[in-house]
Amino acid sequence: MAESVILMENVKKIYNMGEEEVQALRGVSFSVEQGEFVSIMGPSGSGKSTCMNMIGCLDRPTSGIVKICGKETAKMSEKELAFLRNRTIGFVFQQYHLLPSMTVLENTMLPLRYQGIPFQKRKKLALQSLEKVGLSERINHFPSELSGGQKQRVAIARATVTKPSIILADEPTGNLDSRNGREVMDLLAELHREGTTIIMVTHSQHDANYADRIVNLFDGEVVSQVEM
Ligand code: ADP
Repeated sequence: MAESVILMENVKKIYNMGEEEVQALRGVSFSVEQGEFVSIMGPSGSGKSTCMNMIGCLDRPTSGIVKICGKETAKMSEKELAFLRNRTIGFVFQQYHLLPSMTVLENTMLPLRYQGIPFQKRKKLALQSLEKVGLSERINHFPSELSGGQKQRVAIARATVTKPSIILADEPTGNLDSRNGREVMDLLAELHREGTTIIMVTHSQHDANYADRIVNLFDGEVVSQVEM
């Protein structure tokens, strides 16, 4: 059997807050196969963001194993982690995180700069990515001139411009009305159909239902996994 794209094995994360220890993850285990769409749900403080930070190679576990594409993140240098992040993972956040001083096109081209791709090629790939999310008419606008739904579509174009095998989406519709939210979910569903692995944190049962499986967290533990 092919190796899982994401493997979490008895992952614990303890934050030291002065005298106090906060156990954010208490032995989380689950895996995600190539091309799967998984939703992570759970109340505030249950460890969803901590899990996403592990999967996104932004943080390392206190103990346990996190493997991304077969590589154990605890054994990698910062440089290797940054490389894995840039080549393999696209991030979509609730707050979009677009750079306000850059146009839609410049924001979308940005991840390619870290790969040393020449300007014309970066521009071509970014234009393709923006066309796919229906924003070809807005390439010279600044983020402040866009609606929330449009900003999130730019964020998706930026996240996918490197053709990552994994998309991590942290409450991607959290700031959107239902119509814009549906457009964003439809884009994620399309990426899923094309074979991208998607991990999404959401509070919305409606959005979670787009996934193949829901992982439910509570108090730093996986309490159930529901196949859809
Ligand atoms: P969720 O995303 O489900 O709201 P988090 O992963 O953010 O949950 O948090 C899980 C627990 O870890 C919470 O009790 C939170 O207060 C704590 N926590 C998260 N990040 C930190 C941090 N950087 N320092 C200290 N405690 C943290």
